[in-house]
Amino acid sequence: MKIRDMLAVALFALAPVVATAHQKSTLMAKPPKGAIVLFDGKDASKWHHRDSNDECKWDIADGCLIVKPGQPDLVTKEEFGDYKLHIEFWLPLLANEKSQGRCNSGVYQHGRYEIQVLDSYNNPTYKFGGCGAIYGQKDPDKDAIKPPEQWNTYDITFRAPRFGPDGKVKEFPRITVFHNSIKIHDNVEIKVSNTASGLGGEQPATGPILLQDHGAPVRYRNIWIVPIKAKA
Ligand code: MG
Repeated sequence: MKIRDMLAVALFALAPVVATAHQKSTLMAKPPKGAIVLFDGKDASKWHHRDSNDECKWDIADGCLIVKPGQPDLVTKEEFGDYKLHIEFWLPLLANEKSQGRCNSGVYQHGRYEIQVLDSYNNPTYKFGGCGAIYGQKDPDKDAIKPPEQWNTYDITFRAPRFGPDGKVKEFPRITVFHNSIKIHDNVEIKVSNTASGLGGEQPATGPILLQDHGAPVRYRNIWIVPIKAKA
């Protein structure tokens, strides 16, 4: 081996480990210790409907929670601060629909910061509106959507906003998202207090998970959350 090659090998060995942009598949991942199961395939009692607080009227079939168009967004009864959330979603092919009309839903943090759910596979839409976008703020770093009628995963780490003594936001909320095990947002600050169609009002320190009814029978399954004890 030439000295130049030896040097290259040595430098490679000394190179810092770069955080991987992928993680192992979490499809059908079992809830870890400490997780709160929000939907186990049968029981939707942890959810109620937005505004009315009615018990869940979306369909439950084949182990899935299925958006029932016209029945409003579902919201968890419990609120969370910082957390890790796992959720799986399946998008039926709505071949006659385009752009935002093709299988729109969404997973909202604190009921107000949407990670978009949309069949944006071969379906162009506007900026900050495709699947995985922080709606209205940032596109995913990579397009990780699968073709329709396959299961997708989101693994979301959310850090709630922090407030100063005056009650004003001192630090914006932050979010990291893996879509189908590909990192699409890396500790991104969310600089708006509410994305479109969120719960609105004053930004809270805790809030629910909200699943959006946007008129398409999107299926969800295997939903669980691990609350993280907040450090200052
Ligand atoms: Mg949406």
